[in-house]
Amino acid sequence: MFQEISQGQIAEITDGSILNEKDDLLVSQIAIDSRQILHPEKTLFVALRGAKADGADFITQLADLGVKSFLVHHDFDELALPDLCLIKVSDTRRALQLLAKFQRSLFKNPLVSIAGSNGKTIVKEWLGQILGQKYAVAKSPKSYNSQVGVPLSIFGIESYHQVAILEAGISKAGEMSALEEILKPNLGIFTNLGTAHQEGFESLESKLKEKLSLFSDSNFLIYCADQKEVSEQISSLFPVEKLIGWSDRAGDEFTRSVKVNPKGARLILMKSDLSTHTFQVPFTDVASLENITHVIVAAMTLGQSAESIQEGIAHLKSVDMRLTLKPGINDSLLIDDTYNNDLAGLKVALDFMGQQRPKRHKILILSDLLQQGSPEKIYEEVAELIKKYQFDQLYGVGKEIFCLEKEFPESFKGFGSTEELLKSIDPESFANDMILITGARVFGFEEVVNRLQQRIHGTTLEINLNALTHNYNFYKTLISPKTKVMVMVKAFAYGGGALEIANQIQTMGADYLGVAFSDEGVALRKQGIKLPIMVLNAMQESFGLCSEFDLEPVVFSPEFFESLASWCTVHHTSMRIHLDIDTGMHRLGFERKHLDKLKILIQSNPQVEIASIYTHLVGADEEIHREFSLSQLKSFEEMKNEVLTVLRYNPLIHVLNSAGIAAFPEFQFDMVRLGIGLYGVEVTGKHELALRAISTLKTTISQIKELESGETIGYSRRGVMPSGGKIATLAIGYADGYDRRFSNGKGYVLINGQKAFIIGNVCMDMCMVDVSGIDVKEGDEAIIYGENISLKELADQIGTIPYELLTNISTRVKRVYYLD
Ligand SMILES: *Cc1c(COP(=O)(O)O)cnc(C)c1O
Repeated sequence: MFQEISQGQIAEITDGSILNEKDDLLVSQIAIDSRQILHPEKTLFVALRGAKADGADFITQLADLGVKSFLVHHDFDELALPDLCLIKVSDTRRALQLLAKFQRSLFKNPLVSIAGSNGKTIVKEWLGQILGQKYAVAKSPKSYNSQVGVPLSIFGIESYHQVAILEAGISKAGEMSALEEILKPNLGIFTNLGTAHQEGFESLESKLKEKLSLFSDSNFLIYCADQKEVSEQISSLFPVEKLIGWSDRAGDEFTRSVKVNPKGARLILMKSDLSTHTFQVPFTDVASLENITHVIVAAMTLGQSAESIQEGIAHLKSVDMRLTLKPGINDSLLIDDTYNNDLAGLKVALDFMGQQRPKRHKILILSDLLQQGSPEKIYEEVAELIKKYQFDQLYGVGKEIFCLEKEFPESFKGFGSTEELLKSIDPESFANDMILITGARVFGFEEVVNRLQQRIHGTTLEINLNALTHNYNFYKTLISPKTKVMVMVKAFAYGGGALEIANQIQTMGADYLGVAFSDEGVALRKQGIKLPIMVLNAMQESFGLCSEFDLEPVVFSPEFFESLASWCTVHHTSMRIHLDIDTGMHRLGFERKHLDKLKILIQSNPQVEIASIYTHLVGADEEIHREFSLSQLKSFEEMKNEVLTVLRYNPLIHVLNSAGIAAFPEFQFDMVRLGIGLYGVEVTGKHELALRAISTLKTTISQIKELESGETIGYSRRGVMPSGGKIATLAIGYADGYDRRFSNGKGYVLINGQKAFIIGNVCMDMCMVDVSGIDVKEGDEAIIYGENISLKELADQIGTIPYELLTNISTRVKRVYYLD
């Protein structure tokens, strides 16, 4: 934080009323998450109310930890905690923003802020790297750009920082004014305008206007003048003196020309005063070229010389800068953060690690933090973080990092270079460990990750955990805060990987999990998942497992009830169960004619506790079945009421699946059962734009071949190229779950942003695509589906549903998880 602040000042800034003020206590840290507290007595805990949880629930626990200052909603009951300093405000999120606004106002060096639909994080990181060669740069960690993320980023600015680069992101109308008020950027960058998150806005134009309002007080605004709507809007809103447009045509402040060459591209920028600068950049794709142009223009505007910009670019790669969780060697888990170069990023990685299920040892592999500023202060904080997260083993690479040796003489091993580290570690010595690998780009820690990750073939399914959280929170907005959520993680969590998904939703605050078979539940329990688990199809043979692992079977017939009840009697135990009522699905479930028998069974078997009663809608996703769904709901109400007459307690009542939540929110009862929607597919078509794709299936090009006219491709000679052309062989086949029905042009993949259609039949482990006219090389990535290829469209193409595509992905495909 830029400046320490007293409790009284906090109350004044946030217009709060203060209880038990201590004059001499200064706050230097602000936390919204109870797990991230380093110096309890110097921390102000801000109790936010979110979809996940109410921060106020953690106050007692934090007080025990030694936290002394709290910012709470005015309705917080202080009687329970008589000695704490409580600052009461009408809205804690707003108060957090006001504190950020205050800290921002103290920072007199340049603040750059980036808005736009795509590329914000990349532009921020690249600009940060180029400026970071000379200056102490503060930047928002990862993509902290929201109503809460921006204030937290501001608190990351310290007094030694010379420039700050912060992102601003909004998802609905009205949000930018709060961010503008905090950020007050001196220099603005508008990356571009896309259609993402359109749902929260009236029109594309209103979205654009809102985003641009961030720059109302900026001295300069950098943008690409080739985007017509953007450039028109900007010229009409801002005085011409502050505009720094760049364009591939002449007439703006910078005119750009691009020449692609074998090493990337040469980018020539001519300024309006006719001075010309040439840069060699290591990319050729349109998006990266756009991003780097924003970065160069911004660096020039901030007074950087062309030479030093070029030097910075030489160290950039179009890297994967996400924080990623990967399966590691011998059942270890790897957190890959090889693009991290500052303390703020390290904290995000540690927090992410803290949320994962426990492993045998915690191991940290860390390089020098190539961050300008005060090294003592920085490494002092690193040491405290290491203590807090209780690492068992530390590997340090670089020079400065050796200062950790005296602090951790037992666990620290230092190396002068990454090569030395690689020579000395034996990957086989790791087993069932949690390994966090975090280092600055120049240390090339990719090699370390390579060595320690589980080796599987080139196809991966990447799961975006932020998108998962986004989708979960979206469904929470459709239901009442009191309604519980059961997340269906059957079938390997719809292909996404049951363990990691279950772990993530457990941290997000879901109430229940649903699996298809007992084995799935046992696997979750063995890895430390604590949420209650309902088993849809528990077989009689697995009652022992259910009892041992605390799994709750669904009971769907009088016979099943009887055998479960007598199993409990024989084993002197009780069990919690769920009753499935058949109202039209005709799969499993009690019918009306079974109810009398069921009531008697319930009454005579108190060892069987009814945890819930539910039914399942057969056509909630289709408007034509609306009447039928309503009749199902009516039968359900009658039937469950009849069962309730023999119960002296209240089991949970639930009906709605994802489509049901969207179509019949008025029938949410006590709980909903969320499945496909969480995984990014909105089957009713009502809220399609509100969800984010969570998974991307990717593979790589193994080989490229030029074919003569008339040659054929693959089995049965089904692929033909009448006039010859170029094909690429991909490392994915039907055994990976890439459906054979995509053969012969039914399916396509994206390679460097371009469509390449399947040619010939899909083989077991490979398939071929037509890449004639596309610029590709062996080793390039091919996207099977993801943000830009919708699962629905793919499913339609071969006459199936997204559920099948998701669940078909073989377990041999490596799953990696990341935060974007
Ligand atoms: C799979 C399943 C769900 C979830 O359905 P979605 O359409 O994926 O939301 C809900 N309830 C039951 C009983 C299920 O089997």
